Amino acid sequence: MGANVLVYIESRGGRALAGSVQLLTLAAQIAAGGRVEAVVVGPDAATIAANVAKRGAAAVHTVEGEPFAMYGALAYARAVEQAMKQAQASVLLLATSEQSRDFAPRVAARLNATMATDCTHVEIAGDALRVQRPMYARKCMVEIEMPGGVRVLSVRPNTFEAPGEGTPGSVSPLSVTLDAGDAKARTLESVRSGGQAMDVAEADVIVTGGQSLKTTENFKILQELADELDGAVGATRAAVDAGLQPYPKQVGLTGKTVTPRLYIACGVDGAVQHLAGMRGSKIVVAINTKKEAPIFGEATYGCVADLFTLVPLITQEVKKLHGASA
Ligand SMILES: Cc1cc2nc3c(=O)[nH]c(=O)nc-3n(C[C@H](O)[C@H](O)[C@H](O)COP(=O)(O)OP(=O)(O)OC[C@H]3O[C@@H](n4cnc5c(N)ncnc54)[C@H](O)[C@@H]3O)c2cc1C
Repeated sequence: MGANVLVYIESRGGRALAGSVQLLTLAAQIAAGGRVEAVVVGPDAATIAANVAKRGAAAVHTVEGEPFAMYGALAYARAVEQAMKQAQASVLLLATSEQSRDFAPRVAARLNATMATDCTHVEIAGDALRVQRPMYARKCMVEIEMPGGVRVLSVRPNTFEAPGEGTPGSVSPLSVTLDAGDAKARTLESVRSGGQAMDVAEADVIVTGGQSLKTTENFKILQELADELDGAVGATRAAVDAGLQPYPKQVGLTGKTVTPRLYIACGVDGAVQHLAGMRGSKIVVAINTKKEAPIFGEATYGCVADLFTLVPLITQEVKKLHGASA
């Protein structure tokens, strides 16, 4: 397509989110002869940028300093808008997240861009981009053609594989000029919900439990497997309503939408409202005692079994595999 493409690298706790880094692969496909650049905003931007620069970005812009110390839509939108201008980019890619939902529309409006959010498929058709995105809780998919001009796309994590490491691009600070309006709202405090546990929306592997787990204590069985697989624990709404797990772990229509590589549903019935949040998972393993449970209709692998027996056995086997490869 020959366009300059900018990727917004979202970060948390000093690390780039995988969903953002994966977009460097798409950026290279869209750029095809143009330049791929990236922008990292916030604390530790320089350290994060050094890693990102090894993954195919010709230049990584870093934006640090007091106004960017904590996420705020106004300042971050201004930073990304100016990075777009600096990179002379006509395509901006962001990972679908709470943050990009919040500030990317402002960037699109300022750049007079066409925007498509939460894309699950992106195709290059000459100078146009053809994207697919789910609507009505994934009951239907819409296809949108974005013919030209400036385009802003947010893409679901795990839609693309992250590129491998190569010759590093340059890393340089970008000086961002904020205007008076950007100071109208300022973030004073940011509290991570769900404690230090990995966020299901960012996890590559999710082990989800339903209300059949019965107690919070029993969820430790799932946590142990999730820890072994470097993943997160999720929950159905019934489990959350019963007070077994906090709301940030809820997957589904009224919870989070997730797209992990591996989703292990333990004692989850598979109600449509739950499926709406996890249908984009690459591999689904369902463990349920009831062979008619709707979750089996979504499963890549189904096990008609008692989760209290099977999950610890799986954990044991994974531990053995990890032990053997250590
Ligand atoms: C407007 C609206 C929004 C909603 N939003 C959401 C949402 O965001 N997310 C969500 O999850 N739900 C949502 N729901 C609720 C949804 O309809 C279901 O009620 C809920 O998902 C069921 O949760 P569950 O699978 O834990 O429980 P259940 O339906 O009670 O299913 C439990 C399952 O566990 C199995 N089981 C029992 N014991 C064992 C065992 N020992 N080993 C293995 N399997 C076992 C059973 O066979 C059964 O299939 C919503 C509902 C409404 C009306």
